[in-house]
Amino acid sequence: MVKNIAVIRGDGIGPEIVNEALRVLGKVAELYGHTFKYTDVDMGGCAIDKYGDPLPEHELQKCVNSDSVLLGAVGGNKWNDVPGTLRPEKGLLRLRAGMGVYSNNRPAKIWPQLADASPLKKSIVDQGIDFIIVRELIGGIYFGEHKTEGDVATDVLTYSESEIERIGMIGFETARKRNKKLCSVEKSNVLDSSRLWKKVMHRLAEEYPDVELSDMLVDNCAMQIVKNPAQFDVIVTENMFGDILSDEASMITGSIGMIPSSSLGATTCGLYEPIHGSAPDIAGKDVANPIGTILSAAMMLRFSFDMPKEAETIENAVSAYLDAGYRTADIMSEGGKLVGCRQCGELIIENLRKG
Ligand code: NAD
Repeated sequence: MVKNIAVIRGDGIGPEIVNEALRVLGKVAELYGHTFKYTDVDMGGCAIDKYGDPLPEHELQKCVNSDSVLLGAVGGNKWNDVPGTLRPEKGLLRLRAGMGVYSNNRPAKIWPQLADASPLKKSIVDQGIDFIIVRELIGGIYFGEHKTEGDVATDVLTYSESEIERIGMIGFETARKRNKKLCSVEKSNVLDSSRLWKKVMHRLAEEYPDVELSDMLVDNCAMQIVKNPAQFDVIVTENMFGDILSDEASMITGSIGMIPSSSLGATTCGLYEPIHGSAPDIAGKDVANPIGTILSAAMMLRFSFDMPKEAETIENAVSAYLDAGYRTADIMSEGGKLVGCRQCGELIIENLRKG
């Protein structure tokens, strides 16, 4: 199969981690007889430096016209003082909106080999952590009007029924393929947008009688994720709540460097990226963990290219790498064998076996 992949290396550790993911994809292509063609896209700080714009329209079009996009991360201290509309993260928001990817899927799963890396008590970890956060990605407060007038700043949070419905359906469909438990998270005791959210979720529930729907306020959910994460199967929530909860969920699984994500809309052209940022503190030092990006590439194969065997080949290689005791610094624990970003990629490639 021939697939065109738009590649955004971005800033900070972005280029290092994306390189390892591309090397893994290259080996998978060789094993299974596929051709992956890559188109480089400038986005983030590097695009500001080159074009004065974090995502010029011609670069966005390369993504829209691809079969899928693989992204490292964008941002960094160098661009902290640029005006809000020109910040590197604006490129990311524009990319998500331009691609129409309204559903972000972030798994929170603990690798048994990394149980020690979780900050939670062993008794909680032993109950199992394996849930997915389905986050609405192109609506809500991040996309509402932002303004500052004198000493008053305003950010507007808006959701329409149709926006809630389409993400709700992804939540129900995701739960249907798993343990059939969907927890809708909102703040309906305070926010109108959340009351609408809850109403739409309950209306949708009638179409999914096989899925058990529960409601939870976001502040309670933040507590429950650390108190009893085993209770969750699929969480569906709006943009900002999902942003915060998914970072919390990533930490209980060990390292932010391990977690992939997929963002999809109405087509199979998706956006795949690790959930972490550009980690300027460790950029260029060959210490970043590339696994979140490598697993994002695996998600791309599974969800956008319908290549489940190839995806599993990558996941198995990561598991074998962890079994052998190799660890990048972020997940290092007693007895682990310390490796850098490049060597991590190399060892995972050595473990790739055609399934
Ligand atoms: P971050 O995720 O970049 O880093 C947080 C901490 O985790 C740092 O100590 C970092 O060293 C560590 N870390 C992150 N990824 C790692 C990896 N793969 N391996 C090992 N350690 C890793 O978050 P931050 O420091 O708040 O943000 C840095 C920059 O990234 C900011 O400019 C921010 O706006 C941007 N950002 C970008 C994205 C994105 O591109 N999707 C997401 C979040 C933050």
